[in-house]
Amino acid sequence: MTRRLYYEDSHVREFDAQVVSCGEREGAFEIVLDKTAFFPEGGGNPADTGTLGRVKVLYTFEWDGEVVHRCDGPLPAGSAVHGAIDWDRRFSNMQNHSAEHIVSGIVHQRHGFANVGFHMGEDGVIVDFDGFMDDGELSDVEREANEAVWRNAPVTAWFPSPEELGRIAYRSKLELTENVRLVAVEGVDVCACCAPHVKRTGEIGVIKIFESIRRKNGVRLRMLAGSRAYEDYVKRARSAADISALLSTPRDGVTQAVERVLAERDAAQFKLTGLRRQLLEEKLAAEPYTEGNLIFFQPELDMREMQSFASAAREKCAVAAVFSGDDESGYRYVLASKSADLRVLSRDMNEALHGRGGGRPEMVSGSVSATREEIEGYWR
Ligand SMILES: [Zn+2]
Repeated sequence: MTRRLYYEDSHVREFDAQVVSCGEREGAFEIVLDKTAFFPEGGGNPADTGTLGRVKVLYTFEWDGEVVHRCDGPLPAGSAVHGAIDWDRRFSNMQNHSAEHIVSGIVHQRHGFANVGFHMGEDGVIVDFDGFMDDGELSDVEREANEAVWRNAPVTAWFPSPEELGRIAYRSKLELTENVRLVAVEGVDVCACCAPHVKRTGEIGVIKIFESIRRKNGVRLRMLAGSRAYEDYVKRARSAADISALLSTPRDGVTQAVERVLAERDAAQFKLTGLRRQLLEEKLAAEPYTEGNLIFFQPELDMREMQSFASAAREKCAVAAVFSGDDESGYRYVLASKSADLRVLSRDMNEALHGRGGGRPEMVSGSVSATREEIEGYWR
């Protein structure tokens, strides 16, 4: 059994050990040591990475009581090796995992809800609870969690005897009575957990819940702590500063400024729609009545505008054809008529102009991959 240095001291970054075995497997080397500070993936906590001498540790996992280091090179069994874990990554994982215990402990104390899902991912730490909390309740939880950080409370981990275990109330209660490891955050939480944690809550720095999604039986939170929360804050502050500069507004007036810009955009869009309709009406009014067909090319019309234009234009001709688009990306079309069966016509046009579409006898729509010249050639 590998001696687990991370249980003795979660802050061991480097250590000396002996190689017990090394085997090749699926393009990598699986190395077992007599002792290690590398935490194997487990309990929602990612594995440690780092180096063993000159080889890289890509992943660490537990197998049959041993900690197995998956490495990019071999080490001879029996040799001595110096191990170093990627401390930034490990410390960040400890900050976030300890923060999760604090938040889950407070939620449990305040609301009696259990943590039923935990994942430390690229876009934050995800925690699922089996009960719903609204934004106000969550900000109270977050506030209390940060107060626990400011108190710099001690975090301890130990393997209690079965008798002691029977006397202690803790979260994530297991069926086991032996080899249960408890992690306690003084005054906040006691929970069964196998992962390494910070020694005092002050190491966590800050805890921020930044998203809550209502789920079937509760709520899913996304949160960050420590260095990751700080980096996230830097990014958000930069983007808030950029937005307020773009809007020429002080930062606390950004929401109102965005609301104003959106209202202006909607008003401009409304006006533009009216002007476009007017333009089309005038264009149509200028066309004489004809027994033949009328073809219109108009850039940037949406489907509704094309349909209403085509349906007005068919009053003046046999078939009204409205095209919108450009030579490079092709054209969308609407054909309208009061007399012809346009399904036949559009099938023929689609074939000639590499198009697709269809509709009712009196109105069809679709698109063609052809240039304006080719389209005009077809209608001539
Ligand atoms: Zn845990």
